[in-house]
Formats: sequence, C-alpha cells, structure tokens
Amino acid sequence: MVIQDPVPGVPGGIPIIASEFPELPKALAERPSWDSYFLTIAEAVSTRATCPRRAVGAVLTKDKRILATGFNGSPPGLPHCSEDGCWIEDGHCVRVIHAEHNAVLQGARYGISLEGAECYCTTLPCLGCAKSLVSVGVKRVVYSSDYNPDPRVLELGIILEYKAPS
Ligand SMILES: [Zn+2]
Ligand SMILES: [Zn+2]
Repeated sequence: MVIQDPVPGVPGGIPIIASEFPELPKALAERPSWDSYFLTIAEAVSTRATCPRRAVGAVLTKDKRILATGFNGSPPGLPHCSEDGCWIEDGHCVRVIHAEHNAVLQGARYGISLEGAECYCTTLPCLGCAKSLVSVGVKRVVYSSDYNPDPRVLELGIILEYKAPS
C-alpha cells in the first residue's frame, strides 16, 4: 500500500511505503484532535512555570497555528518565586504573571494580533486573565482543569469548553 501523505511545503507530498512502517496506519488512526494537540502543548508549556504553588500553561492559536505561549512566572529578568519566594496576597501569589496573561503579553511584545484567536490552557482562566483574553479578541477558551473557577468568567461572552486531559 502506498499512502500519499502530503508534506507541508513539498508539492504533491512524498509517497510513503506503508509496509516499511508497520506502525504508521495505527499512528495515523490515533492522531490527536486539534484540541487535544494544543492542550498537550499547553501542558508542556506549564512545565516552565516558576511558582512552586502552581504550574499553568497557555497556548494562543489561530487557524491551527500557534501564535504565542505563556506560563506563570515573574516578568523577564526579575527573580523567580523559586529563587526569592512567593509574594502572597489573599492566598494568591502576586509575584508571577499568569500564563494566559503572559501569552497575551508575548503577542503584544512581538506585534502579533490575537483577534479571533483561541486559547488553550491547563486551568480555567481567572477573571483577570479572562478579561484580558476578551479584550485582545480571543473568542474561545479550551481548558483541561477548572481549579477554583470564578463564575463571573461565564458572563464575559467568551466560549468556554472543558476538555479532559488525554
Ligand atoms: Zn509564587
Ligand atoms: Zn489568571
């Protein structure tokens, strides 16, 4: 069997001889959905978090492309919680910038429009982050944990979808 699997950037794709890759049909059948794919990437992004209290990752996408990523951490160049301790206020660490907010700021820093983007994040955004996402034009948020949800996030007119981590 010959599978013509189009390869991005290669006109016509490269023919693949399936018999030489016995795992290929199985791998193709088990390809993750786009939502699972981006949530898995958000999970990987969260591993760069610098606050020992919680690790969160966010990925902003549009048309199935990644525009920006963010994890919860101090502003660039400033000491991390892991080095200098958390700043606790009302039970929350306020030294770090939240993951979703950091992804928005990355877009701002590098001049990337987020109009119509989607946000994949490892937790339901807090009210502050959700407002930032709405303000920059994010239309849909997919999250894999609803830790400490704020019901006011539901009133912001943004599409919220929970998806269990795979
Ligand atoms: Zn902290
Ligand atoms: Zn937040």
